[in-house]
Amino acid sequence: MRENVSFPFWRVDGARIYSQSAYFRHEFGAPVRKISVDAHFSCPNIDGTVGRGGCIFCDARSFSPGRQFGLEDIDAQIDDGIVKLQRRFDANKFIAYFQPSTNTHAPVETLERVFRTALRRPEIVGLAIGTRPDAVGEPVLALLEELSRETWLVLELGLQSSKDASLRAMNRGHNYACFVDAVERAKRRGLRLGAHLILGFPGETREDMILTARRVAAARFHSVKLHNLYVVRNTPLASLWRDGSVKIQSLDEYAQCAADFLEVLSPETVVERLAGEASAEFLLAPEWTGVKHAGRNAIERELKRRGSWQGKFFDPDWIDQ
Ligand code: SF4
Repeated sequence: MRENVSFPFWRVDGARIYSQSAYFRHEFGAPVRKISVDAHFSCPNIDGTVGRGGCIFCDARSFSPGRQFGLEDIDAQIDDGIVKLQRRFDANKFIAYFQPSTNTHAPVETLERVFRTALRRPEIVGLAIGTRPDAVGEPVLALLEELSRETWLVLELGLQSSKDASLRAMNRGHNYACFVDAVERAKRRGLRLGAHLILGFPGETREDMILTARRVAAARFHSVKLHNLYVVRNTPLASLWRDGSVKIQSLDEYAQCAADFLEVLSPETVVERLAGEASAEFLLAPEWTGVKHAGRNAIERELKRRGSWQGKFFDPDWIDQ
């Protein structure tokens, strides 16, 4: 692979990955923290709109334990998040992050009310909205375009893999073409885009994962969130893992895949997450997913061992054929 010789600003201090904190400091001139907000939206892949049962790795409770209990309203979640994060970190700017489930799966009037409520406090400097590529119709995109003229906004689309066989096996309920269509429509409206990706699906080769990385790189996403495939309780994936039909990557295998992925990613794409995290209460495998920063540390070690960094082999002229 040809080496990319550009030297982005975030490499000045020896960093090998363009982190979210580096981006926020650059963009806002100050640290920015994300407040996770649960708007209690459903998911079209669970409620029957697209399918039932959901993605085979998904158990919403494992990502957001609060969903099991009575949930506070948006205002209260924001107030609470600000107090907690101000106490814990030296930050006075925050992004309201609509994270669990599908945060565009509601009538547009509801979405507008929810997103504008989150923007009420002056400390909230932006919105991050996580969703699926099949839940961003034109009315939703029009709303997000309007909001993005008023505040910093990123629309995070779950792809997980660009290999249709993997998407089918995971019961994602959409294919890669659906994702491409959503990306093209959102880009026409000038929206800032993020992609969620999972490495280590059974049957995926190194080349498959690199192809997904090249596709994401070519689309010039603002940000990506990477994580390893991991198994939580009460999911179809847990049964497949127990009976041995699905193997989960070791820390070393994952670090190598993630390093391959990062090497071809654009150096201008912010890497917001490098590995999954699940609480011990829900996690079945791999054990290292329960160890804080284990994935990040292993990937950074692997890049260092290679003398490499994010974007080292990014090819701006690559065309998907
Ligand atoms: S789209 Fe997201 S919330 Fe819905 S089933 Fe899949 S992982 Fe779960």
